Amino acid sequence: MRCERANAKINLYLDVVSRRENGYHNLVSLMQTVSLCDLVTLDFHPGSHTSIRLEASGNADMPTDCRNLAWRAAERFLEASGRRGEVFISIEKHIPMAAGLAGGSADAAAVLRGLNALCGSPLSVGELCAIGERLGADVPFCTVGGCALVTGIGECLEEMPSMPAVPMVVACMGEGVSTPAAYGKLDALHGFFATPTPKDPRVDRLCAALRQGSISEALEDFYNRFEEVVPLEQPCVDPIKRTMCGCGAKKAMMSGSGPSVFGVFSTQEDAIRAVDALRAMGAAAFVCTPRPKFVRTS
Ligand code: ATP
Repeated sequence: MRCERANAKINLYLDVVSRRENGYHNLVSLMQTVSLCDLVTLDFHPGSHTSIRLEASGNADMPTDCRNLAWRAAERFLEASGRRGEVFISIEKHIPMAAGLAGGSADAAAVLRGLNALCGSPLSVGELCAIGERLGADVPFCTVGGCALVTGIGECLEEMPSMPAVPMVVACMGEGVSTPAAYGKLDALHGFFATPTPKDPRVDRLCAALRQGSISEALEDFYNRFEEVVPLEQPCVDPIKRTMCGCGAKKAMMSGSGPSVFGVFSTQEDAIRAVDALRAMGAAAFVCTPRPKFVRTS
């Protein structure tokens, strides 16, 4: 039996660079894992046939069959490692779903890490990421965690120093967002990105700030392209941002394709005050902090 934390990710920077012929989008993103997490408990009993059982608590909408990304991660891990047997997965869901926090990808990544550990580490981190890449664009990053500059469709990771342990708040409210639909809106607005987005100097500045461990001066360079389209249809995004800023957030921005918003605070007291105010509005809100990476990659 093994328990893995499946940490949510936020995007400090997220831009769409171009669109591939197969419809996938090339991105530039700075991703950071945060302490908000699902708890994934795993067990594996080797045997002559393979079966997967998945139990879930915390969100009745989460699928508990092969539609669950964690289930598919277990299948792919067994195939790739040549193992057979009974897999048990239990997910205690805390990360809001369809919120741009990569909850499903985090669960899948936790299954890859956890099953690999239970089986005596037959696969390298690179091999786990390669399995992850076929499951979803955020899975390679969620397998490694910490902070990374993510490019391609999510498969190219350049490790960055994690953000300093500043107090943060993650919050969301209202309907979830379908990530493909949000990309569709950006495609319509930007002519399917036929002209690639020019290189943005903010990315180098942000990476330099992370390397120097001084994120506060880089907050102005945080950016999320999805803020062009998602807040128009998700009326809760802007009020959540305003509430965070009213409680002292130095920056509040949407994560991923939304509608979740994260805020960076100077003090824990301000972060707690913001969570209280957001919950009074009816939002799901959590105090959290950036987390370092899970696995050694070198
Ligand atoms: P992404 O940006 O990668 O789409 P997200 O954070 O916006 O991620 P998720 O919480 O991963 O969204 O969920 C998206 C959909 O994936 C859900 O509506 C759900 O039906 C499905 N799903 C499959 N497995 C899981 C899982 N383990 N946890 C949450 N959702 C899952």
